[in-house]
Amino acid sequence: MLRKQIPLVNRREFFITVGAAGAALAMACNDDADSFAVEEPGEGIALPELPYGPGALAPYISENTMSFHYGKHHRGYVNKTKEIVAGTEFENASLEEIIKRTAGKTEWAALFNNAAQVFNHNFYWKSMKQGGGGRPGGRIAEKIRQSFGDYEKFAGEFAGAAAAQFGSGWAWLVQDGGALKIVKTSNADTPLEKGMKPLITIDVWEHAYYLDYQNLRSDYIKAFVDSLINWEFAERNLA
Ligand code: MN
Repeated sequence: MLRKQIPLVNRREFFITVGAAGAALAMACNDDADSFAVEEPGEGIALPELPYGPGALAPYISENTMSFHYGKHHRGYVNKTKEIVAGTEFENASLEEIIKRTAGKTEWAALFNNAAQVFNHNFYWKSMKQGGGGRPGGRIAEKIRQSFGDYEKFAGEFAGAAAAQFGSGWAWLVQDGGALKIVKTSNADTPLEKGMKPLITIDVWEHAYYLDYQNLRSDYIKAFVDSLINWEFAERNLA
């Protein structure tokens, strides 16, 4: 089992521990998966292994931010979700099933919020890679041209949505029917509830950028768009 208390001074050891103990979870975050589903029914909810090392996205996202964001926030949502589903009808449900069945139901608000945040963070880590960002090629480039006109219009609209999300939330590139769209969601909300297929997401909760950028959310968004987007992941998510 993973350790529950992680002293900050042992961040490196923490990631090594997670990496070893998380070997069985590697499938849950396999980049080759052809679906954005990161859990299968009955597998339970787990903290997936990161698809890269904790310092891989530096200098755009520091190892320090990763240690808190992945090691504490994401882990916290996973633990809380597991705690809430225990003994309920959702005990063996997949994340997507939980999200779709609890969305908008006040009696399940805590479960929805935590499960959706697990899904969102699983998706966020896979939306980035070292050496990513900038103008894509292949099928995703053609889709962007069809839906936005050109890459610059996409980049401007995506950055604008991420900057304009008031308070905590997310901005997404999604596929809705045949077209690509940019949407923003508040708090834990995801495009799944609206039947849209996520391709890429950026977390704009302050915990995602404050250690590295303080209040300069737009600098973090620019780094994400120019240097981090995993376009191969986006393309694999296309229907
Ligand atoms: Mn977050």
